[in-house]
Amino acid sequence: GIFHSDALLSMYRFGYTEECFFDYTFNPIQGQAGVVDGILNIVSETTYRVLNDRRARLLREVASKTGTAKTVTEACALTAEVLRSNSADIPFALLYLIAPDGKQAYLCESSQFAPDSPIAPRCVSLDAADGSTGWPIAQVAQTAQPQIVSDLVERFGELPGSPWPEPPEEAMVLPIAGAGQGKVSAVLVAVASPRRRLDDTYCDFLEQITRQIATTITNARSYEEERRRAEDLAELDRAKTVFFSNVSHEFRTPLTLMLGPVEEALQATQDAEQRERLELVHRNTLRLQKLVNTLLDFSRIEAGRIEAVYEPTDLALLTSELVSVFRSAIERAGLRLRVDCSPLPEPAYVDREMWEKIVLNLVSNAFKFTLAGEIAVTLRSNDAQFELEVQDSGIGIPADELPHIFERFHRVKGARGRSYEGSGIGLALVHELARLHGGAVEVSSTVGKGTCFKVSISQGYDHLPSDRIATARTLASTATGAAPYVEEVLRWLPEDEAGGVARKQEEVRTVEALELTSTSASPTTRRSGSPSARILLADDNADMRDYLKRLLGQQYAVTAVADGEAALAAIHQQVPDLLLTDVMMPGLDGFELLKSLRGDPTTQDLPVILLSARAGEEARIEGLAAGADDYLTKPFSARELLARVEASLKLVRLRQEANKALQLSQEQSRL
Ligand code: ADP
Repeated sequence: GIFHSDALLSMYRFGYTEECFFDYTFNPIQGQAGVVDGILNIVSETTYRVLNDRRARLLREVASKTGTAKTVTEACALTAEVLRSNSADIPFALLYLIAPDGKQAYLCESSQFAPDSPIAPRCVSLDAADGSTGWPIAQVAQTAQPQIVSDLVERFGELPGSPWPEPPEEAMVLPIAGAGQGKVSAVLVAVASPRRRLDDTYCDFLEQITRQIATTITNARSYEEERRRAEDLAELDRAKTVFFSNVSHEFRTPLTLMLGPVEEALQATQDAEQRERLELVHRNTLRLQKLVNTLLDFSRIEAGRIEAVYEPTDLALLTSELVSVFRSAIERAGLRLRVDCSPLPEPAYVDREMWEKIVLNLVSNAFKFTLAGEIAVTLRSNDAQFELEVQDSGIGIPADELPHIFERFHRVKGARGRSYEGSGIGLALVHELARLHGGAVEVSSTVGKGTCFKVSISQGYDHLPSDRIATARTLASTATGAAPYVEEVLRWLPEDEAGGVARKQEEVRTVEALELTSTSASPTTRRSGSPSARILLADDNADMRDYLKRLLGQQYAVTAVADGEAALAAIHQQVPDLLLTDVMMPGLDGFELLKSLRGDPTTQDLPVILLSARAGEEARIEGLAAGADDYLTKPFSARELLARVEASLKLVRLRQEANKALQLSQEQSRL
């Protein structure tokens, strides 16, 4: 017998030539004596299966061949290509992308037609919806419903590109909407085969195709957006670097112009109070300068413009000199300082300013985060490397923080150091500076036991760029020397340990003084409103404390403490008339302090003013929502502060008088 499988036998039926497929076999019918009497042809129609397979293949191909598209344009081009190479079911297709403003649709790709061919216009306005000529693209985009066009020959004449001899008669125009979102983002014009009726199955198939195209476009679009976001971020980063660099430069000039005259004035004055004011300005100008210089270093490193000058250096001498400037502060705090920097076999090639920053940052950090025990600094030569170790017996760093510790602006949450102050850039800078010496910095730490930072740099100079060895600097130096570091560190000492600072505030009552008087006044009998209203001030910045004490001390009795826990202790000794507290403090911060006060009946009405460096309406609302009576943003003017304090105290007075009046009237009515 002869067997044919899925043979194409076009049939003219239902009024047109139809693409049909059949299986058939010719089987001889054997008569008597082996004579073939006839032929049996068993035929079964397989059109349904053949079409189904072919369409499923096309769908798969649209999915698989467009998956690599990285842009929407590319996705459309690939889709068009796949459709063109499988023209039996879609003899001719056009894909229109709708512009983001929704006003126009643009043909994705067409070299097949003249630019202004009515068959494939490059651009279709979506405002005018005249369905009688051309494709109903505007209607489909507006309604998000597919439309069937069944007078193609009348509209366009014979369409090109069909593999069939007859001109196509029908087409479907379909909306393409991204998954989950109703918005039509593209429109597909799919011309149907002249040899198949555009029946439900055919329509279903075309709709499946559009869903696949929608997925392709959505994927390509998110890829594009992702890349654009990454590019935007990179651009932002560059802009930030330039900004930092410009701003830091701009800051430096005025800072220099402030430092000089302040230093002169300090030398010229004998007046103690005047000196104190000037020292405050001087110290804080130095601090600002150090910060600005660090930012400048970063922007230079990031822009690849840092300029190292490597000079042969007696590293042991330089290091021990730098460390020794902290000795007095460290010992005053009751800590031990061990320095082991015995002479090295050869000079080290370092940029001295950078090495200075490495040592100063590590030692001041060690001091900041060590409340008892010792700080040990060791320098040694080991395996073609110089190794600097700064080991402390401080609070340690949790293991999950260690991988992030050298990231810029990273700070350990809730770390209980001597001060909350800091910006999280010191270690990031140390990391970069070590790298610039062909070296690295490592950290090991145990919470509650201590931390060890180890900086290793290569010996010799083969690893360094030869043009940067012992040459001259052209960029302005960002070295500040040790002074700002030491000044800062001194301000973290408790006042009696810092020596002198406390003595200058004799006019102000301290916590210890309060302890002596606490028996005389209980919370319920506290007086206020008189010039001696009591204000408790909590701020971890010693300068800020001194300044506010001096400012408020003229009118009020001010007690100052350095953190939330001390504030709470002082309040339990004696409830003040007003609490003025910083938000960011080590240990118990302003918000936590506030919460604890509000939860205690004896302090729930205590007026609280929050001081914060966080500007903005949100921060303010957060503060007030937490139960603060007022919220002041740093920097504030002296006048503003005094006015707010006065207003808060007045409110307390009014409240108390109202209470008293109420009590009185209650007593009278009882009589
Ligand atoms: P900053 O000290 O300005 O916050 P750094 O980059 O110098 O910034 O330090 C980042 C963080 O690393 C600190 O906030 C602190 O949490 C932690 N850290 C640094 N040095 C030590 C140390 N010696 N002991 C414990 N924690 C430390």
